[in-house]
Formats: sequence, structure tokens, C-alpha cells
Amino acid sequence: MNSRPTHPDVLVVGGGATGTGLARDLALRGVDVTLAERDGLSAGASGRSHGLLHSGARYAESDPEGARECLEENRILRDIGGAAVRETRGLFVQLAEDDPDYFEEKRAACEDVGIPTDVIDGETARDAVPGLSDEVERAMWVPDGVVVPSRLVAANAAAAREHGADILPHAPVTDMTVDDGRIASVSLGDAGRTLEPTYVVNATGAHAGRIAAMAGVSVPMRPTRGVMVSIDYDGLEPVLNRCRDPADGDIVVPHDDEAVLGTTSVPVDDPDDYERADWEVERTIEECATVLPAVTEAERIRTWWGVRPLYEPEEAARGGRGISRGFHLLDHAADGNEQTSSSALGSDGVENFASIVGGKLTTYRRMAEATADLVCDRLGVDAESATATTELPGASEPSTLDEYVREFDGQGPTDADLVGNSR
Ligand SMILES: Cc1cc2nc3c(=O)[nH]c(=O)nc-3n(C[C@H](O)[C@H](O)[C@H](O)COP(=O)(O)OP(=O)(O)OC[C@H]3O[C@@H](n4cnc5c(N)ncnc54)[C@H](O)[C@@H]3O)c2cc1C
Repeated sequence: MNSRPTHPDVLVVGGGATGTGLARDLALRGVDVTLAERDGLSAGASGRSHGLLHSGARYAESDPEGARECLEENRILRDIGGAAVRETRGLFVQLAEDDPDYFEEKRAACEDVGIPTDVIDGETARDAVPGLSDEVERAMWVPDGVVVPSRLVAANAAAAREHGADILPHAPVTDMTVDDGRIASVSLGDAGRTLEPTYVVNATGAHAGRIAAMAGVSVPMRPTRGVMVSIDYDGLEPVLNRCRDPADGDIVVPHDDEAVLGTTSVPVDDPDDYERADWEVERTIEECATVLPAVTEAERIRTWWGVRPLYEPEEAARGGRGISRGFHLLDHAADGNEQTSSSALGSDGVENFASIVGGKLTTYRRMAEATADLVCDRLGVDAESATATTELPGASEPSTLDEYVREFDGQGPTDADLVGNSR
């Protein structure tokens, strides 16, 4: 690192899906971007998630708008993502103890949203998914898929770099100076490197409140942790979802010879330092075993936790876990407004600063596009987003994607069995 200030048009802080997606979007529009990530890429929620590419079916009855966004992004990612996504399909299963009306409600809601479904009886479901519980009474196919998040994030970073962006892993933002209502300088790491960007975007997920505070701005976050358990399980094809009100341990995500069980949702005060409770592991396995009984006896390969980047005002207003999490684009300028939902944060008075929080891995591209629209508006750049129609670099070559992951030190636990095994 050198000690000379540099002057990118935009500094993106945070190298998860949102930050790298934003760097890609801006770079494709010709904007000069630097991205700073404190660890390797994907070190936050993106590399530690369940990895479900939502079809929207999980949220169809409780949040049709959120479900529609998932469906659209699901289709886009299948088009542009290549080996960073897997087209597995998903199966919502109703057990004998589950409310049949809920199943009907979800099926009808999927139809309203435009999510294709195909209802099958228990026997047909067991033929399609060997090992499925005898308690499954009926099931419904939906177009869920699987994200390989380390590849997705690294490919977004590689795309940004191809278009001139500077991608800096292991470059934590440690300080900012604000002068006359603008961020004047940003310090990276302890080596004395300083940037003087024209605009700064805070895409640090659960850490967004801390970065915002460096500029004297409040971004209240209410993060929750969730556990995932990867087990030795060969040959599961679709994602399995328990068809009931979202609860602990109701999703099983297939990998080649592993399955990832999850998850829980427990509030944490500090996204870096939180309890990892045994009961979460046991409950997750127990609940997933109601759908796929053999998981109880299967060898446990990895257990990890992730922390959801939840925005406090939305969480306070939520009516339950089944409501999809929207994203929040907070423009910290004096005349700025929140771009996407109810509560406006418009009086922060830092002209060249925005935060993007909440959302899902599935909707990262949409979050990035909305943020890039705001930034381009502020910079006077007249260019449209091209990210929905441009394939990610290396998409058709798993080994190239895995090379990007290595280059950016981007391996997370969600896909540790898949990434690096490509030939
Ligand atoms: C348990 C769990 C399961 C989930 N399952 C799913 C799922 O199946 N499907 C789905 O669509 N979504 C899922 N999600 C949600 C999804 O993972 C997140 O919404 C998404 O990954 C957030 O991406 P992000 O880039 O905004 O944040 P992150 O991925 O958290 O990225 C923020 C980055 O900022 C970095 N950072 C922090 N401080 C600094 C600093 N000072 N300087 C520089 N960098 C900094 C962090 O290291 C991190 O890499 C899940 C989340 C959790 C926790």
C-alpha cells in the first residue's frame, strides 16, 4: 500500500454481493470505482448464507411484491450467472401435521405472483426425492435454485475489474473525515493509505451502522444470526422447503454430495462477537429431519453462522418471519430520501454518502442497480444499468470462477465443498 491519496469517483465499502454487484454496475456504466473490503471478499453474510436462490414462493402469500422481485431476479441470475448458480428446482412439502389450508394459500399466491407450481402427491414426491419422509402428504414444485455465493461475488468483482475498477480485499475502512457536509477522506487499514473519493457508498451489511457513524450518520441496524449445518448427503436434487409459516430448520439446500440444513434467527448485539448456541444446531437438524429423516444420522461436515443485515425500522414494523426483507437505500444528503420504503432519512447532511442495507442474496443485483442509479444521478452520469443482460465473466467456466475466488480470497463456508473442485 502507498500513502498517496487517490481520488476515485466512487468508493464502495464492503465486498459482499451488494458491494461487488454495485462495483460491477458502476464500472459497466463507465464510472471509476474502488471497492474496499476489510477481509477477503464474501467474508460477511454473502459467503455464510444458506445459498437459496429464492423463486419467491417462500414469501408469495405474505409479501407478493417481495416475491415478485425474487422471481425476476431468480430468472436474471439464471441467465447471467452460469456456474455461480445451480438450477435445482425446489419442492415445498406438506407433512401430515401441517395445515393443508396454508399449502393451498401458498399455491394460489404463487399463481397470482406468476411463480409456476406443479402439485404432486406424497408417493410421487417420494419417487422424485428418495429419502423423503413418509409423513409428506403432498408437495409443490417451484423454480427455486441454489447460489454458489463465493463464485457469484468473485465474478461480480472480476467484472468490475475488467471495466477498470480497483478491488481491494483486506482493506478495512478505519476512519473518515467530513468537511463542510461532505466526506473528504477515507482511511484504509493501518498502513496509512487514504482515499479522497467523490462519492462513498456504505455496503457493509450488518456493519453499516458502524461505517455510517464514522461520517456522523445514524443507520440503525438490528442483525440476527442463523446457523447452517452441512451434512454428508449424496444425491439430493431439489431444495426442500417445509410448507408452513417460516420457522427454524425448514430449508434443506442440495450440493453435490452434501446438503446444507438451516436455519435459525436470533438477535445479536455485535455482528462480530456473538454466541453460537448448540440448541440452534440441534433444533435445525431435528426440524429438517421431519422432512428428510436420514439427516439425523448423517455425518456433520461443517457448522457455521451468518448474520443478517437487517434494518431496524423495517424490523420494528414487520409482521412476522414470512415477510420478505426489502432493501433500503439511504441517501444521506441533506435533501436526500430513502429511495425504497417508508421511513425517510433525509436530514443527515452528508452530501456524498449513501448506505444500502437489508435485502437478500437473491436480490443483490437489484439493490446494486438502484444504488448505482442514485450514484449516477449524483455524479451526473447518464448511463443505464447493463447488469441484467450482461453475462458474468467466466460464467460458463467453473474453473475460471474458482480462480477469481482464489484471487480475491473469497471462499466462504456455504460452498466450500463446491468451489475449487471444478476441473
Ligand atoms: C443465516 C443466513 C441465511 C441466509 N440465507 C439466504 C438465502 O438462502 N437466500 C438469500 O437470498 N439470502 C439469504 N440470506 C441473506 C443474505 O445472505 C444477505 O442479505 C446478503 O448476503 C447481504 O449481502 P451484503 O453484501 O449486503 O452484506 P455482506 O455479505 O455482509 O457484506 C458486507 C461486507 O462488508 C464488510 N465490511 C464490514 N466492515 C467493513 C469495513 N470497516 N471496511 C471494509 N469492509 C467492511 C464485511 O466484511 C462484509 O464482507 C441469509 C442470511 C443469513 C445470515
